[in-house]
Amino acid sequence: MTDPSPPPVPRVSRRAASIDVSGIRRAFELGAALPDPINLSIGQPDFPVPEAIQAAAIDSIRAGRNGYSLTQGTPELLASVRAHINADLGWDPESHGHSIMVTSGTSGALLLAAMAVLDPDDEVVIPDPYFVIYPALASMIGARAVRCDTYPDFRMTAARVEPLITGRTRMVMVNSPANPTGVVLTGSELAELAGLCESRGVLLVSDEIYDGFTFPEAREGGRCPSPGRSSRTSLLIRGFGKTYGCTGWRLGYAVGPAAIIREMLKLQQYTFVCAPTPLQVGAAQAFGVDMEPTIARYAQRRDAVCQALGGLSPIVRPCGAFYAFVEVPPRLGISATEFARRAAAQRVIVIPGSVFSHRDTHFRLSFAVDEQRLQRGLQILAELLSGG
Ligand code: PMP
Repeated sequence: MTDPSPPPVPRVSRRAASIDVSGIRRAFELGAALPDPINLSIGQPDFPVPEAIQAAAIDSIRAGRNGYSLTQGTPELLASVRAHINADLGWDPESHGHSIMVTSGTSGALLLAAMAVLDPDDEVVIPDPYFVIYPALASMIGARAVRCDTYPDFRMTAARVEPLITGRTRMVMVNSPANPTGVVLTGSELAELAGLCESRGVLLVSDEIYDGFTFPEAREGGRCPSPGRSSRTSLLIRGFGKTYGCTGWRLGYAVGPAAIIREMLKLQQYTFVCAPTPLQVGAAQAFGVDMEPTIARYAQRRDAVCQALGGLSPIVRPCGAFYAFVEVPPRLGISATEFARRAAAQRVIVIPGSVFSHRDTHFRLSFAVDEQRLQRGLQILAELLSGG
């Protein structure tokens, strides 16, 4: 008797198969495998969730608010986002045809926006270097990501975006403060980009997840520059995870044209349903927390990075987020992937630029680690950058 053939394995979709495991995740796994690594690949802050936010979430769980919220969000979080946008950007986000919704993380808002706007074969312009999910979002929908090369200063300006807009462009994504570069665009650069998108009937999606991490020198009127209400075609997406140290809570929000938010709400109903209710109640306390001492500490770490490495390689000074994107000096004659491998051999984990870009010339380091560890890592990276 012959062996019965093994049962067939369910086939996976072309959509899933076309997506590679995130290079960030690979670096994370490498870090987990090394003994006592100096992990400068981490994209989340290293401070506890502020007490007031924790307390409100715990109270909400104990008070039995554990069911679904409205699709749009809990009333207290919507009210606090509304008041915050009003104070921060000087406009009522629920007037003039605009609307707000709470989402499952910033990633949730990005996915819903992409699903609401893009059809197969449409084009979305993204920065290069980019946050890793941008091209994946496009391919999940069958749309095409068109990369806007922003080297060497990493500024995604209207002049760089304009030649990339075609009859198929439906969306432009901008990210300031940026991952992986820490670059913060000015209000006038963002307004120009918003104006370009408006004139072409293209949605500008402004990913402002790091708005709370805008260092003082890049603020305008004390705040993170934003395209704000300068255009009827701008969708602002922000989050709580980075600013308040709760990336695992999966909370973000979107503010923009009511017609787009309406479609995103419909899609949320059939996907995420709502963001976690008790955590929304916690996040409603967030805007009352003073994060300035924390941000000042991160700005000092940024200074330490520029001081340690700036003389060895050109670094575009990060003015926000908690990343620096450092060039591997061409005189070393190696790719960033090879540089990251050499750093890992000395137990320092950084992420090669090829994970975020069509180029493999830079590496991203995160300074969301304690000062002592950061200094040890910088010392090793400095030796490697000087050819040691
Ligand atoms: N946008 C950018 C630029 C990010 O860096 C990240 C997280 N690394 C996200 C969005 C996703 O954030 P969230 O955890 O809120 O989904």
